[in-house]
Amino acid sequence: MKILVIGLGRFGKSFAIKAARYGGEVVAVDIDEKLVEEVEPFVADAKILDATDMGALKELDPASFDHIVVSIGENLTASILTVVNLKELGIEHIIAKANSEIHAKVLERIGADEIIYPEDESADRLAMKLTHKGMLEYFEIFRDLSVAEVEPPADVIGKSLRDSRIRNRYNVYVIAIRRNGELLTLPGPDEVIHEDDTLVIMGKPGDVEKVRR
Ligand code: ATP
Repeated sequence: MKILVIGLGRFGKSFAIKAARYGGEVVAVDIDEKLVEEVEPFVADAKILDATDMGALKELDPASFDHIVVSIGENLTASILTVVNLKELGIEHIIAKANSEIHAKVLERIGADEIIYPEDESADRLAMKLTHKGMLEYFEIFRDLSVAEVEPPADVIGKSLRDSRIRNRYNVYVIAIRRNGELLTLPGPDEVIHEDDTLVIMGKPGDVEKVRR
């Protein structure tokens, strides 16, 4: 996977290094020389570049990348111009980071295909965890589909997944079970639920919430 990361603030830098660690061929760029130097040892290539400069952007050959992540938050004008430039170069899928709701709206309007808003997403997850007892982890993977880690409801402990009828009763799938520090993925119908298990379930947010309750 060839990945271009534009903007190496806290998020962009961390993302670039992690994507490279996971095997991505990462090219990281920023207008700030110091940030480029910091990331350089960890990625395939790092360049000093002003992404609002169409000529410089073109030279990068953005169309040759599988993914492009624009991680410019604070400088709204630079973020917008970069996305507009990439769109003009015919890039179909752009992932852009927003720093505020209004920033996210603007990015959507100008054609960013996927908008990430890390602060808001983390805040949402933490708020959900702290206000919902028994909800150990929570992600909304799509608008209407979430994955959560929950304690098993008392009436299913000691039963197999089949006998617990979790899927029919709650309309959620058990996609994994955390047990003794290990993750048992895609458990079969005969898997018996233990008291200390954590169930990793997937379903509509309302259905997930019913299991938790
Ligand atoms: P965080 O640090 O939490 O990720 P942020 O996205 O607001 O938040 P910024 O400090 O704004 O972080 O980081 C954006 C990065 O984008 C900065 O390193 C900045 O130098 C870089 N940048 C800004 N304008 C341009 C541009 N025109 N071309 C390339 N990089 C740019």
